[in-house]
Amino acid sequence: MKKIILISILCLFASIGNAQNTSIDGRLKPLLEDFFKQCDNYGIAYHEKLFKLKKIAVVEDLKTSPNGSILGMLQRDKDGVVENIVVNWVAMLDTEILKVVAFHEFGHYFLEYSEHTCNDCGTIMARVNSSYFIIANDWDNQLKILFKQSPAYKNKLNTVVSTAY
Ligand SMILES: [Zn+2]
Repeated sequence: MKKIILISILCLFASIGNAQNTSIDGRLKPLLEDFFKQCDNYGIAYHEKLFKLKKIAVVEDLKTSPNGSILGMLQRDKDGVVENIVVNWVAMLDTEILKVVAFHEFGHYFLEYSEHTCNDCGTIMARVNSSYFIIANDWDNQLKILFKQSPAYKNKLNTVVSTAY
């Protein structure tokens, strides 16, 4: 436990901000970069959305309990506008869980998933996941599902179709 706390503190100092004043936690940055690569592949814009955020961070104040922890969430201001994407530090205990949780939250925000695809069906946008390892072992396919089924991608396709006429 002490070791985990120490690592958390060390990582906190490694957190970095970018020029647009959106603070991006160093521990989530590689995952965010991977996610943006996929956005590029699917032609989904993300820069403007990114700059509207205050921070993307690993935090220690989300509910954590043996009966169920909130592993990640979008935090909104009083008008309901998303300010922060946060991930519970507990998710960092396993790199695969961290990856799935981070992509889930990025999906809510950047891919415009306002709802979950199901309660627990072994996909990234499920409300809960009883096995993160099923998803992690099927990652490339899971990414395809995440992006192709997303509201942002479907909207983009509709726009392309309607301008073609
Ligand atoms: Zn969710």
